[in-house]
Amino acid sequence: MLKSVLIANRGEIACRVIRTARTMGMRTIAVYSDADANALHVKQADEAWRLGGAAAADSYLCADKILNIALQAGAECIHPGYGFLSENADFVTSCQAAGIVFVGPDALAIQQMGSKSAAKLIMQDAGIPLVPGYHGANQDPEFLQQQADTMGYPLLIKAIAGGGGKGMRVATSSAEFKTQLGGAQREGQSSFGNPIVLLERYLLQPRHVEVQVFCDRHGNGVYLGDRDCSAQRRHQKVIEEAPAPGLSDDLRQAMGSAAVAAAKAIDYVGAGTVEFLLDKDGCFYFMEMNTRLQVEHPVTEMVTGQDLVAWQLQVAANQPLPLQQVEIHLQGHAVEARIYAEDPEQDFQPSTGTINHLRQPTTDQHVRVDTGVLEGDVISSFYDPMIAKLIVFADDREQALSKLDTCLQDYHLEGINTNIDFLRKLTTLEDFAQAKLHTNIIEQHQDQLLGKNKFNFDTTLALACLALAPDNDLAGLRLNQPSQVSFSIHVDTRELHINLQLAEIYTANFSDAAGNSGKVVFTGSKTDEHLRLSLNGQMTKASYCQFGDRLSIFSPTGKLVVQLLQPQIDNFNQTRQHDAGDIVAPMNGSLIACLVESGQNVDEGEALLVVEAMKMEHTIYASTAGIVGEIYYRVGDLVAAEAQLLHLNPLPQEA
Ligand code: ADP
Repeated sequence: MLKSVLIANRGEIACRVIRTARTMGMRTIAVYSDADANALHVKQADEAWRLGGAAAADSYLCADKILNIALQAGAECIHPGYGFLSENADFVTSCQAAGIVFVGPDALAIQQMGSKSAAKLIMQDAGIPLVPGYHGANQDPEFLQQQADTMGYPLLIKAIAGGGGKGMRVATSSAEFKTQLGGAQREGQSSFGNPIVLLERYLLQPRHVEVQVFCDRHGNGVYLGDRDCSAQRRHQKVIEEAPAPGLSDDLRQAMGSAAVAAAKAIDYVGAGTVEFLLDKDGCFYFMEMNTRLQVEHPVTEMVTGQDLVAWQLQVAANQPLPLQQVEIHLQGHAVEARIYAEDPEQDFQPSTGTINHLRQPTTDQHVRVDTGVLEGDVISSFYDPMIAKLIVFADDREQALSKLDTCLQDYHLEGINTNIDFLRKLTTLEDFAQAKLHTNIIEQHQDQLLGKNKFNFDTTLALACLALAPDNDLAGLRLNQPSQVSFSIHVDTRELHINLQLAEIYTANFSDAAGNSGKVVFTGSKTDEHLRLSLNGQMTKASYCQFGDRLSIFSPTGKLVVQLLQPQIDNFNQTRQHDAGDIVAPMNGSLIACLVESGQNVDEGEALLVVEAMKMEHTIYASTAGIVGEIYYRVGDLVAAEAQLLHLNPLPQEA
């Protein structure tokens, strides 16, 4: 049993490892960069040590600093998480030399799988099917072109050291081969310090299906089912699920056995993932092996009921695997959605900023949120833009997807752009629901997936008005509240000027620059965060938050941003009391007659206005003699109860 662990990582995966390590009674030691001094993983660990500056090169990639801290802190093992040093064979060797257990495979296995071409050679010898192609040493461009022409197009050029979708180029014809080759080589060199490439047949619309394997130092090796990770953007996964839908038992077993054989071929130890491409004809091909815990491991945990980090720590402590293959049973269906700080509308560019509002779905046994951020945290450009993973489990895929959608709807984040609404659109696509999965599914449906959310205008306007209205006890206005407010907003490409009459029934009269006008009548209630709108007999629940002049509404159809235009909404909060000369509407209704004109002298008791409500006329009389000042409504206008209709100025004092 290991008693302490240093987690050489940050964010959600650091928190994830800490969680299990603590339940196993281990002392947890975090490391952090200056940017992460107040991060969640630092707060959750038993102790935390500073690494250095914000850049990964000055912190989470500093193998020597991390080892020194591990020695000083007396850490018995180091868990690398994923990314950073997790697949760095030299780091594993250094750990070993320092007498610290590395939670993962031996250096040699990492080295062997670190090169996509070396890995293919080993897998070829082990009898694992490979995507046809060239993965040899000859890198002469003429030779490669010749190989490519023989293979035929389209084909994929991959930097052998590549990862995370980088260093890959598709060549669709002989004519563009050299250009694409140059691109892959340059990216391989700049991102991974290695320009060597391999060539592969480019499969059209394959599925990405991977198998979770686990091996110990006692000769045991098992697979814990498969995952489909076909939904990708820029060759990076966004949705993963387990088990991969629609596979026959025979195929599942064949892939599982091939994955275990792949692991055994390199004397693998610990958690690993063997990635396959599954072609339309049911043939599968080895793509690569990731020698670490994957981002998407929680879906496997959900369907197997196992804690894979616990397995890792047990294997690191030289214990045998907790289960034999026959003891591993899969149940139900799990889906993971990766929540990224990014803007799908801007080609998924990462988005940075401060998370000034964060509400997460309620978690339970079947809804899990793995995250490393808190409200108030800054998302910087130093690290990966993934901020959380939402994982749901249900008896079957349909229920799991439905639950995922509900939970995504409950995930409210403001301050940065996220892909939450994009994920909802993706997982509710007809093709997705029918499990017509392939690696181009996002590209194929981009017209449906991208573009602004479509909101119903009246609902949008009513929600915005409800959120912006001064706090009301809507069952009966408080006396010191204004009866109407006016403001301008920018919403969904339109600039609207709104006069909102506040009463039991709200009336929002709006007009825009193009001269369109109209009104929306609704009722509703609200608290500090929640809105409950009733419009045309339909109830809508939504949440909202406001920072400065930006109002965000989280509605069932997605997040809606309303920009408040000058003059500011502040005057909303200035309460205004009716003074003696204010003539107000006695109830909601419409003004059907105006019997006086501005400037006219009236006597006490003289009829001023007629309001009709519920088919009954109510005449409003002057309570004192005076001079008619401003008349705020025209005949035909709807008026809200307590709305100021007319102002009566006092008669000049007699000398
Ligand atoms: P990385 O190491 O950068 O993640 P992979 O080799 O794992 O790269 O491939 C990432 C993704 O690229 C796959 O999931 C798949 O969508 C696509 N891909 C890789 N190889 C092929 C291929 N031969 N044909 C079609 N798509 C491929």
